[in-house]
Amino acid sequence: MKRRAYWWYDVRRYGRRRGMRMCAQTVEQAAGDTVALAYLHEFVATDQERGPDMTEERLVDRFLVLDAHCDSLILRLQRGDSMDLAVDDPAYQVDLSRLRQGGVDCLFTMVGDGDLAQSSVLIDAAYQMAALHGDAFAICLTAAQVRQARSEGKIALVLTIEGQAMFAENLAHLRNWYRLGVRIANISHGGGMPPELQCDDSYFGYISPSERENLRQQSKGLTPFGWDVLAEMTDLGMAVDLAHINDAAFWEVLEKSSVRVCYTHGSCYALCPHSRALTDEMMRALAERGGVMGIAFYRAFIDREDPSLERLCDHFIHALEVMGPDHVGIGSDFDGTTRLWRPIPEDVSYMEELFQALSRRGVDAATLEKIAGENFLRMLPA
Ligand SMILES: [Zn+2]
Repeated sequence: MKRRAYWWYDVRRYGRRRGMRMCAQTVEQAAGDTVALAYLHEFVATDQERGPDMTEERLVDRFLVLDAHCDSLILRLQRGDSMDLAVDDPAYQVDLSRLRQGGVDCLFTMVGDGDLAQSSVLIDAAYQMAALHGDAFAICLTAAQVRQARSEGKIALVLTIEGQAMFAENLAHLRNWYRLGVRIANISHGGGMPPELQCDDSYFGYISPSERENLRQQSKGLTPFGWDVLAEMTDLGMAVDLAHINDAAFWEVLEKSSVRVCYTHGSCYALCPHSRALTDEMMRALAERGGVMGIAFYRAFIDREDPSLERLCDHFIHALEVMGPDHVGIGSDFDGTTRLWRPIPEDVSYMEELFQALSRRGVDAATLEKIAGENFLRMLPA
């Protein structure tokens, strides 16, 4: 059964990509017919060998494409599967073949969100992968290294962590994780009990503007250790990721620190009233601090009733209107959303569809280039 599911996946993926709707449809009608599936598998394999159609230039090939949030390594670890992204596995939304198809040049790769030992294993997995496939991956610490990797045809991996409670109120761990290559770190993954860096939990779910405002006023922001971390990150030149933080702490960081700030994966509250979406006021404040917001592909953040590619484009366009072209990027959250719904676009190979859709909606090439990766590159040391 599992094998068949994989074939279906190939059918949908390659069928749609190469205009073979008829083929996929025919096979759908023949579901359960082993002979038909075997034939199809052969057909798809032949098609795969031919490689992507390069006759027309794709937008993703024109720009440096950077995805600012990806949970693939930790999900593979949790499921006991290979953490080597070069091992193609359609059970996930990211692997090397599909990174190539999607034209992705740089992946902010999440290597830890709660447990120090687990984070150590994930960091090792990233380095092992880069060592094993030196032609495909490079761990990068700076924007210049990301550009260099792209020029060599490699995918740049930038290590990020999604919360620092695992450091157990000891800055030594933060400094060591920096030495290991981590360049971007969240304050919290949502928790608000010591040793978290914020005093109150983050709300998660749909919430009205008045409820949200009440909650912000009742919540407490950063702990003393949280402030120590921000000072240390400022000195080290790391960027803080404000995704998942509670609203009180969000405002504290923006108003009372000078650390480099971003919000790697979220959406626009004006379009979808989820707590993980930013209000226009928050977006403007983030932009004023030079920050970048990554629009996530998670359905629940895109629209409560009818999430779609066009609705996702609405979020990009609204963010551009509120923040300007220098503050919007992509933070898919691939493999972080799989337990509920498939994201839009559904995996990393479809990145071109997003660019084509934004282009149709009137986003010009110079802005697309910034959204694609240039804005988030500013979060790294030059
Ligand atoms: Zn997240």
